[in-house]
Amino acid sequence: MIYLDHNATTPLHPQAFEAMVPYLRERWGNPSSPYRFGTEARVAVERARTRIAECVGCKPAELVFCSSGTESDNLALRGVAQALKSKGNHIVTTGIEHPAVLNTCKALEREGYRITYLPVNRDGVVEIEALAASLGAQTILVTVMHANNETGVVQPVEEIAAITRKRGIVFHTDAVQSAGKLPQRLGELGADLITFSGHKLYGPKGVAALYVRDGTPLAPVTTGGAHEHGLRAGTENVAGIVGFAEAVTLAFESSETEGQRLRALRDRLEREVSSAIRRVKLNGARAPRVPNTSNMSFQGVDGESIVLGLDVRGICVSTGSACSTGDPEPSHVLLAIGLSPREAQGSIRLSMGRETREEDIGLTVQTLVETVERLRRVSSARDEAD
Ligand code: PLP
Repeated sequence: MIYLDHNATTPLHPQAFEAMVPYLRERWGNPSSPYRFGTEARVAVERARTRIAECVGCKPAELVFCSSGTESDNLALRGVAQALKSKGNHIVTTGIEHPAVLNTCKALEREGYRITYLPVNRDGVVEIEALAASLGAQTILVTVMHANNETGVVQPVEEIAAITRKRGIVFHTDAVQSAGKLPQRLGELGADLITFSGHKLYGPKGVAALYVRDGTPLAPVTTGGAHEHGLRAGTENVAGIVGFAEAVTLAFESSETEGQRLRALRDRLEREVSSAIRRVKLNGARAPRVPNTSNMSFQGVDGESIVLGLDVRGICVSTGSACSTGDPEPSHVLLAIGLSPREAQGSIRLSMGRETREEDIGLTVQTLVETVERLRRVSSARDEAD
């Protein structure tokens, strides 16, 4: 199998797995219990928090562990909306966010909040001037993702942070697809709230974090015990958190060298596909991108059929975010960057990772060429028959 869908999920790093085992097997105590067996678990959670804080460049107390990137996004958006309800009701986001943010915005809209969905340009980047112009006296939150899950395009979050800071507006960024892929430390992005998730950086599924800059107004969205500084009730996923810390450490240590290696593989893939296949478009390729992601549109072919055709040959790619698989609608991200619905339907995403090798690229290009040619022959035969 050639797995080229690392933006959907990544395999668990063997070292992360090893680090977790003792907390699944022997040290399964509740970190809130007062006796030594519980304290051991508490120490593991706090040690993991400190390790992650060192890697991402923040204070340990600024990290809230939760169960997924989705939950972290929900806590950020709903938490600020709730905490600043009396101050204003306007939230600014973009049309290309992950459903974890977009659908939360839609839910908040139904509760009476006003949401501005900013457009992006043809490269997939939000225009800073438009963002600045959208802010008003009622604006309580700006949420703009760092790297897009479908195109890999990186947004100018530092510039956005400089604007929101000046205006005293809380800024959240969803860094699920950039954390560990870019050498930049998350704390240096300038955002007040940052989401990142374990299973996108070779950690376990079911664990993530929200970075909450000291002093950021945030209300809890779950009711229960006083876990995670009162911001996220629920017994901590001790083994998951320990594995997450190991994975974060490894990902940030290797992000520079691994990024260079993946960028070279991605560039080779795009070069060879563009020269071997006619009528192909590389989406977002002119903008800054995370190094592992490539999004391509093939004219006259259905992306879903390419995915299935490659799957038969043992190659895993996707048409967009895993959450929208089975969704017949064209990608909202590709429509937002100006693709027609037909072009968007003809798109696939290839996302490389730690185990991707040169020979995988050669085989993928060859299989992709054969698959696209076969599908085009079938569709032109069908058109002629019609
Ligand atoms: N945000 C982005 C940009 C993502 O790509 C994803 C997952 O695909 C999420 C949030 C949700 O993360 P999780 O799968 O941990 O809920």
